[in-house]
Amino acid sequence: MQIQFHGAAGGVTGSRHLLVVGGKRILLDCGLFQGRRKESIKLNHQFGFEPASVDAVVLSHAHIDHSGALPNLVRHGYEGPIHATFATADLLTYMLRDSAHIQESDVRYLNRRLRKKGKPEVEPLYTMEDAEDTLAQVEGHRYYHPIPILPGIEVTFYDAGHILGSAVVQVDITEGNEKRTLVFSGDLGRRNVPILRDPETPPHADVFLIESTYGDRVHLPIEEVDDKLAEIINRVFKRRGKLVIPAFSVGRTQEIVYAIARLMRSGTIPACCVYEDSPLAVNVTDVFARHPETYDREIRKILRDTGDPFGFELIDYVRSVEESKALNLKKGPFIVLSASGMMEAGRILHHAKNSIENPRNCLLFVGYQAAHTLGRRILEGADEVRIFGEEHPVRAEVEKMNEFSAHADRNELLAWVRGFKQPPKRAFVVHGEPDQSRPLAERLRREAGIQTVHVPSIHEEESI
Ligand code: ZN
Repeated sequence: MQIQFHGAAGGVTGSRHLLVVGGKRILLDCGLFQGRRKESIKLNHQFGFEPASVDAVVLSHAHIDHSGALPNLVRHGYEGPIHATFATADLLTYMLRDSAHIQESDVRYLNRRLRKKGKPEVEPLYTMEDAEDTLAQVEGHRYYHPIPILPGIEVTFYDAGHILGSAVVQVDITEGNEKRTLVFSGDLGRRNVPILRDPETPPHADVFLIESTYGDRVHLPIEEVDDKLAEIINRVFKRRGKLVIPAFSVGRTQEIVYAIARLMRSGTIPACCVYEDSPLAVNVTDVFARHPETYDREIRKILRDTGDPFGFELIDYVRSVEESKALNLKKGPFIVLSASGMMEAGRILHHAKNSIENPRNCLLFVGYQAAHTLGRRILEGADEVRIFGEEHPVRAEVEKMNEFSAHADRNELLAWVRGFKQPPKRAFVVHGEPDQSRPLAERLRREAGIQTVHVPSIHEEESI
């Protein structure tokens, strides 16, 4: 049995791991690369394997860096099933169409420029048609029920507590008399956060793949999160500024909205205008509301008590472009949440452009910012940034709260590994930049009793 690491190896995006068992090929995740433009375009156009040769795809969750290359896989000949949890399958209908829309409109914009220069036009990575074909291949499943995906191969989903529908994937492989279990962590969430259940560890693994986004960092305790958020909001409001929060449409957006609603209800922050400006996030919040089977106890209680955990009464959900543009002209104080979370595309760029030069305003980062994204440059203290081709000095305050990140920190990752009844013999540390993956690998060896730990590089193949 072999495993090949075709993405999220040496970085956090483009999650793609290919398992080869007795001539059968199972692809775990099929994500898009994001970050440095030229490099990610190149990586997104090549798989490192033949798409038509894959026998089954298993998806850990719906985030685009885990699912966004699926339409390209289908465009290049993949006709098999795409296994996911029910909630992930539901989310994909919005995420993949949204991604196809972005691919098509990016290329339209690029081709206009190429035509002017007399250069040949380019094709989008995939189209809406490809996204629709892909959706027809998606099969939703329950958690905890073994799914026979190929002869001798079963898959079971456990809750990863990362976003709605997210799963830890257990793959049970029977070859002759030998039975082996591989566990893929997908992205692991934090413990004790509202809404989602805690990440679960399957009982057993011979070998596992673990994410390492925050492999060497420790987050603030959950209890201090509200205080810190209230402090930032009150500070910005006192100077009548705008609080701009780049947020992934899926992930902690719902949790932040939930926290803001909680602070308003308790009077810790003044009743204020909050806008969620992202059509995708609005749809995703609807999907959330449709999947109570994924909620934890706290949200069930709030649902019973108020019937409105996501603050629909308190928050304005912005759908149309006109409403979004009107927000650009509006004076503070107010809060706006908008996608994309790493400021690579979408309406957040308009809000950033309109608020970044005024020291009254504040940009609050609540999610992981991958290397070479606009978000990362601002977070690292750039004096000037380029938005829509124009330089803008960064004068607004810049704040960050990793606590809303949908990713477990170092201690939570180790706790997840300790959840196996016996330490697995072998681990691969993926989905992290080297300064996070390597220290985690070291700790897995020293503190969690894992004999062999390896941090694979991209397109590497290992026998397991
Ligand atoms: Zn994720």
